[in-house]
Amino acid sequence: MLITHDTRCALDTVVDLVNTMPEDESAPDGLPDVAALQEFVTTHDISEVGVLTDLDLSAVRGIRGRFAAVFAASDALTAAGLINDLVAAAGTTPRLTDHDGYDWHIHYFAPGASVADHLAADCGMALAFFVVAGEQERLRRCEAPDCRRAFVDLSRNRSRRYCDSRTCGNRLHVAAYRARRKEAAG
Ligand SMILES: [Zn+2]
Ligand SMILES: [Zn+2]
Repeated sequence: MLITHDTRCALDTVVDLVNTMPEDESAPDGLPDVAALQEFVTTHDISEVGVLTDLDLSAVRGIRGRFAAVFAASDALTAAGLINDLVAAAGTTPRLTDHDGYDWHIHYFAPGASVADHLAADCGMALAFFVVAGEQERLRRCEAPDCRRAFVDLSRNRSRRYCDSRTCGNRLHVAAYRARRKEAAG
């Protein structure tokens, strides 16, 4: 499956967005205030975003939960329904652009869209292409019991089970090491 640069950016953005969600009610929110949302927008180079408000913050937190559901979807039908709802609610105006020195790519968000609608449209379409390619199962949640972070498995054989956070990456190596030792000992 061909993943273009802008799709890759949208994927990184949506994964990072979902992973700002608190694990449970006692955990801190990764997007606690408008300043944090502003930082998220700047870090992810999200274009055409105006002055952010509390309304933007609550709207972004709202779509964040819906994106999380896409990563938790067990099949393409479920994912497709969720993505359709997200993209339809955002409204889209596909258009070619080469802004800021990037190669030609398509923006799906409507001109003047709120940041939440922008993310719902463009990240929603990035995820839609995975469903189209029959690759919905690459949209995963980490299988470590105390992690559950979202990630996109871009490995050739779709074999990644853990996110690339340091703990989970190590956990994977340790588990593989133990398995090898056990095999050698047995
Ligand atoms: Zn762009
Ligand atoms: Zn993890």
